[in-house]
Amino acid sequence: MDSFTSPCANCSVGTTNQLIGLLFQAVLSAQCNISPSELWPQDYGPRVLKRGFEEYDFVIIGAGSAGSVVANRLSENPNWKILLLEAGADPPIESEIPSLWGALLKTQFDWTYYAEISNKASLSLPKGSYWPTGKMLGGSSSHNTLFYIRGNQRDYDHWEDLGNEG
Ligand SMILES: Cc1cc2nc3c(=O)[nH]c(=O)nc-3n(C[C@H](O)[C@H](O)[C@H](O)COP(=O)(O)OP(=O)(O)OC[C@H]3O[C@@H](n4cnc5c(N)ncnc54)[C@H](O)[C@@H]3O)c2cc1C
Repeated sequence: MDSFTSPCANCSVGTTNQLIGLLFQAVLSAQCNISPSELWPQDYGPRVLKRGFEEYDFVIIGAGSAGSVVANRLSENPNWKILLLEAGADPPIESEIPSLWGALLKTQFDWTYYAEISNKASLSLPKGSYWPTGKMLGGSSSHNTLFYIRGNQRDYDHWEDLGNEG
């Protein structure tokens, strides 16, 4: 607790020191509740490696924005067994705190891709543009900055023109 001893600690009869110590302890232990392992689904990887894929009706590769939604929707049919496979681990605490998304860049939670070198963009970057992409449960949605962007009206019209009414 030496680290909690402030230069003005001896101005207190003790109560304030204790309260401030408790406050620090509460903040430190609250950290464990931000992204505890119980929050995330069980890892079936070892079981699949042992028993194979045959027992599953659908295997989805990638538990990102799309894969997670597809797996969830398919699992609404109780007769189907769905396997959702993800290359990355459970998200770290930083992924749960929106303003800290930048801390995940170029870590093990990022594929650290670079775009193809182009003569039209990022001309000063010899490796091409750095292209962050989430590698964890939730994929890039666990990595992103949470800006809400409305879909483009023309995309929806185009999908409808292709025969997807409604
Ligand atoms: C830094 C950053 C900021 C962003 N900010 C915003 C924003 O503010 N607003 C917004 O709307 N969008 C934002 N985006 C974009 C948005 O997050 C993505 O468009 C969206 O998440 C893509 O969804 P997806 O399902 O296509 O791919 P992803 O969510 O990337 O999912 C792909 C998943 O597949 C896994 N995977 C890949 N290969 C394999 C394999 N061989 N085996 C198993 N698993 C594999 C990956 O690890 C990943 O989990 C941002 C993205 C990033 C990276």
